[in-house]
Amino acid sequence: MRTKKALNGYFSILEGKKRVKYLLCKNLEEKINSAEEILSGCHFCERRCRVNRMDGEKGYCGVLESRIASEFIHLGEEPELIPSYTIFFSGCTFTCVYCQNWDISQYPERGVHIQPRVLADMISTARARNVNWVGGEPTPNIYYILDVLKHSKRNMPQIWNSNMYLTEEAMKLLDGVMDIYLTDFKYGNDRCAERLSDAKNYTKVIRRNHMMAEKQGEVIIRHLILPEHLECCTKPILQWISENLKNVRVNIMGQYHPEYRAMDYDELKRRLTYDEFQEAVRFGKELGLDILE
Ligand code: SF4
Repeated sequence: MRTKKALNGYFSILEGKKRVKYLLCKNLEEKINSAEEILSGCHFCERRCRVNRMDGEKGYCGVLESRIASEFIHLGEEPELIPSYTIFFSGCTFTCVYCQNWDISQYPERGVHIQPRVLADMISTARARNVNWVGGEPTPNIYYILDVLKHSKRNMPQIWNSNMYLTEEAMKLLDGVMDIYLTDFKYGNDRCAERLSDAKNYTKVIRRNHMMAEKQGEVIIRHLILPEHLECCTKPILQWISENLKNVRVNIMGQYHPEYRAMDYDELKRRLTYDEFQEAVRFGKELGLDILE
């Protein structure tokens, strides 16, 4: 059986018993310099577009300067994380055909650019227990996020809320900066990842990054069950987690509904059934996973 170590860890962070890492991060300037180098031949994610975003060249995600679609105190995240000051970036490194957030993720030009110093001040006054970097996807915005943290004066846990398709180099930049990895584990095989999110080498990349995340911080894994993907995705994901990760919790999510281009894909045209959801939870529990309920 899984222990409650991860849960206790959260409380220790959130109660302030464990110091927030970014204030201990003595090499933040060094990380910002490395992030600037990555930005000038972009390889924050495994698409490795190698475009110079500093010079206005766009890669797959289309993100140039960081743009924020919305920021607010989120009360709908996992109970121990709320209230969470959530910052939604425009643009994404994936193009999931069923994206539940497509009006943000597929339009990188939407939203506004907020100067890092200004956002740092907004964070300082937010009535929240943590900062939650999400999107779209935060990955193209790592340079910007580090710059914001450089100006930040408030000791606050940082949440990396991501699809986890980062490069190893980008993952290392987060080490010592992010406290909690709130991850989105979508597929149990590369075929589904390529077909539905246009993402290559998905399983290798995502598995590697989850192993790194477990060493770098605390991890909550979210998995949105897709209709008809129980056998090819949900079960292999849960199986892999049970065999490879020790101190993680898993949020099995049943709220899928057809969005964006989902109606072009037969199996994605409907919502999940109650039985499919129950089967996923039963399978996860049988594996001894720490399932969020
Ligand atoms: S973050 Fe965007 S530009 Fe950079 S490698 Fe990924 S998709 Fe390409």
